[in-house]
Amino acid sequence: MSLSSSSSTAPTEEARSGSAQIVLRDLGKSFPGPPTVEVLRGVDLEIRQGEFVAIVGPSGSGKSTLLNVIALLDIATNGSYWFEGRPAPIAERQRARSRATSFGFVFQSFHLMARRTALENVETGLLYTGVRRDERRQRAREALAAVGLEHRMFARCETMSGGERQRVAIARAMIGRPAILIADEPTGNLDSAASEQVVANLKSAHAAGTTVVMVTHDDHLAATVPRTIQLRDGKVVADRSLAALHSGDRPTTHLRTGHPIPGRARVFDLVRDAVRGQLSRPGRTAGLVAAVTLAVALVVITLGLSASARAQVGSTFDARLNRSVSATYPSGTLASLSIAQASQFENELEDLAGVESAGVVLELDTGVLRNGSGAADSIVQAISPSLLDAAGASVRWAPGVTSLTPRTVVLGSILADQLDLGPLSLAPVVMVRGIDFQVVGIVDDGGRNPQLAGRISMSFTDIDGFGEISAAQIFVRTQAGAARQVGDQARLVLLPQAPESLEVEIPPDPVALREDIEDSVRSALLALSALTALMSILGVANALMLSVVERIGEIGLRRALGAGRRQILILSTSEAATVGVLGGVSGLFVGCAAIIGVTVVRGWQPVFDPRLGIVALGCGVLVGVLGGIPAALKAARIQPSDALRR
Ligand code: ADP
Ligand code: MG
Repeated sequence: MSLSSSSSTAPTEEARSGSAQIVLRDLGKSFPGPPTVEVLRGVDLEIRQGEFVAIVGPSGSGKSTLLNVIALLDIATNGSYWFEGRPAPIAERQRARSRATSFGFVFQSFHLMARRTALENVETGLLYTGVRRDERRQRAREALAAVGLEHRMFARCETMSGGERQRVAIARAMIGRPAILIADEPTGNLDSAASEQVVANLKSAHAAGTTVVMVTHDDHLAATVPRTIQLRDGKVVADRSLAALHSGDRPTTHLRTGHPIPGRARVFDLVRDAVRGQLSRPGRTAGLVAAVTLAVALVVITLGLSASARAQVGSTFDARLNRSVSATYPSGTLASLSIAQASQFENELEDLAGVESAGVVLELDTGVLRNGSGAADSIVQAISPSLLDAAGASVRWAPGVTSLTPRTVVLGSILADQLDLGPLSLAPVVMVRGIDFQVVGIVDDGGRNPQLAGRISMSFTDIDGFGEISAAQIFVRTQAGAARQVGDQARLVLLPQAPESLEVEIPPDPVALREDIEDSVRSALLALSALTALMSILGVANALMLSVVERIGEIGLRRALGAGRRQILILSTSEAATVGVLGGVSGLFVGCAAIIGVTVVRGWQPVFDPRLGIVALGCGVLVGVLGGIPAALKAARIQPSDALRR
């Protein structure tokens, strides 16, 4: 027994002086129940620098538990553990740091990232120590060469044999030049040929000065190891040294120089590793990206289409409503309105700034219209020359005619039908109050003055004898946006003595109306987008959570390699953000394509705001990161000792 007869629970002077690297005194470990499981019961053990120790014992005897405590993956519940002359760290962060710098790990299941290359896997062994990337790469090559796998450097691990994978794992464990190599049943999954190679690799690590502590089931293998410790029911029941193999002085002539701790992992390195990891699983990543794409595309479509629609609604309003003003004389003021005065309005209005066209309609008495055998009643009205244009009426003119002249009229199409008028080319005539008028035009649609379609309209010069003015209306077409101003000025022109009593109609303020329409459309679309975003956050959350559950071993191993909770959070969040960025970009493209599609079909002018790109990327990252939160929290809670047991 290398264990001294010391029965004290305090470390010996020898331990404190550092000649024993690992000193366990009366170490106990139990797992809280119920029922409480007492796995280690008073283990006393010393392991010196440069030893090669095999731990054997029946299944369930506590070998892995002991290894986890030694390797700072787990904490003992009682007794003491002195590591390299000091009490072993308890705090999670310090343990992570010590693991990263002092321990290398090899497990029965290799815990490699299957889709990444041997080189990348080995580099991970230094990721959490802050060694620079080029040095990591160089040392990964050396470590792979040391296990005889230089030629498989760029092979993805999923294409490798079990023996090769375990040797990659040994290279990963050794790249940090650990003081102690921890191996839990490293040959448990391998055939004998592969086992031999793995053991040869472990022995050469030992030969270079590394302490090796290995759990094994294989008695044959244990027999070739200098020292064997046997556990049963959580106690050391035997501790044999093979004198022939045990070179007692080796510990003091230990070759390991112990590289100084370079520092902390760089966030940039962690992010790059996460991005590469995510991209190495293209199938899974594509599914996640599709979910984010959907949400981002919908947001882009919502914002983009409402910009295009805004432009479109604007020009529609400009083309129609925004350009018309009409006014009606209150009946009380008609007595003071003379025909001579009214005949001047058109010119006066057209002199106002912003007026494109203006016209006046005066209603007179009712008359009977006759044409051959036909007869019809109509209010007779006088119209100024530009009235038909200003009201936007559509008129069919007789050949060669474009306006009213004396003794001609235009008839509403309703009257023309009642009178059975016949074609205009035959110069039909109607008689009103004994006077013949030639019909030179038919009004099919009165535009803003629909009554034109049911009346007879003549020029001001012909209205003597048709009675008093019974109603007067003015129609103005203005330039875009000038309607309100023209309306105000028209009052002064038309009824200077009482401008406020004139009934002026100006279309509703198009800006307000436009915003009304846009707001309702946009809020509906935004609600839809928010719903989609929520769904995709849930989808992403679910998928990322599954991915963490599948990768518990990998994440546990990263913890063993020295990653703290924070680094695991960075890993998970960066993976989620990668998905978010990719989804943001593809959502932007899909969204823009949809906007182009819709605007082409509707004949609109597409409007693209460059800020849409930023919004898309932001939305993508937001969806990804929010969706990644549950997975990240779960990943950060993974206990390496539990995870690596699998
Ligand atoms: P070995 O590696 O020797 O096969 P382990 O150290 O893995 O044994 O486990 C020893 C005992 O401790 C087993 O009975 C196991 O069920 C129990 N055990 C290990 N880990 C836990 C845990 N986290 N919670 C409860 N029991 C545990
Ligand atoms: Mg075990």
